[in-house]
Amino acid sequence: MKLKCLWCLNEQPQVTFNKKAHTIPKSLGGQNYNKNVCDDCNSFFGNKQEVNYSIEEALKETFNITRRRLLMDTKQKRQVGKFKSRFFDIKERNGKPRLVIKPSFRLNSTFQRELCYYFKRGLYKMYLEELNRQTGKGFEPKYDNIRNFARYGKGTATVLYFNRVIGIMLMFRSEAETPILYFDRMKYLYSNEQFVEIEFLGHVFGFPITVYTQSDFNSYIKKSLEEKKRFFKNAKEIDKLTDVDLSLRIMNS
Ligand SMILES: [Zn+2]
Repeated sequence: MKLKCLWCLNEQPQVTFNKKAHTIPKSLGGQNYNKNVCDDCNSFFGNKQEVNYSIEEALKETFNITRRRLLMDTKQKRQVGKFKSRFFDIKERNGKPRLVIKPSFRLNSTFQRELCYYFKRGLYKMYLEELNRQTGKGFEPKYDNIRNFARYGKGTATVLYFNRVIGIMLMFRSEAETPILYFDRMKYLYSNEQFVEIEFLGHVFGFPITVYTQSDFNSYIKKSLEEKKRFFKNAKEIDKLTDVDLSLRIMNS
């Protein structure tokens, strides 16, 4: 059977499928790859964009902060200084880690917005590739918005971040070694025809996969928060990466 690319929708032999396309960056501990990603699209996500980093880097340099936090033994809080990211430093204040932008980026007023934009594209990329790998779905036209945004930078995307009520549990620590993207975890992830939710390294994100009206959005968010009220207090639309609790401050409370 001819392979068809999930992103550009081209088939063999128009495009080649020689390289392994990791759905979750290898440097984040990802071990799975999607065979339906052509070499061109695969290298696109790994190549530097107009900014000085790639979509994959925007993803791994941010989520790595969480990963390290999870791998860190709670008894060794002093190791907080060892977090490393190209974009962020972790500063301690009153014994709690706090995410700050590195001095080299701090003067760039568009930096936060740009990084968030590429992060969202990376999140959409990871979502569609994992959805396809886990369920076989993803080629349907309803996913064209995701293709257009993640692969071609067309349009904008809304991404919601759900804030937890209490710190995440020990279970996530074991997951940090080889992170998994969840679509239906613990029954609190709510999805319908227009909106999906995913959980990754203890973070829960929600986003539309197709066109929607304000009233669609309102009814989605109402149902979603109702499902998760035991674990999550609210949802925030992210426009800066500091809107995401990457360093898991919540675990210290
Ligand atoms: Zn392709």
